[in-house]
Amino acid sequence: MSVERKHYCVTCGRPFPSGQGIIIKIGDEVLEFHSSRCFAKFAKSLIERIPHDEIKGYVRKVREEYEELLEQKRKTRAKRII
Ligand SMILES: [Zn+2]
Repeated sequence: MSVERKHYCVTCGRPFPSGQGIIIKIGDEVLEFHSSRCFAKFAKSLIERIPHDEIKGYVRKVREEYEELLEQKRKTRAKRII
């Protein structure tokens, strides 16, 4: 007998067990996705609906963080070659 709680994908409704999928808590809202594809679909609709003025600062910040990570990876790779 399983006492494990089942999760249901917000995007497609498919049930999935704990330890799988993507679960995100935003404030008092819990969003559950069975796959990264379903999450991407939801995230895309969400991002497109947020007014540009409100989101642009965050977009820039997150993009900068990834650019920094990529730069670090490039440096690590360069060091390994030498
Ligand atoms: Zn799904």
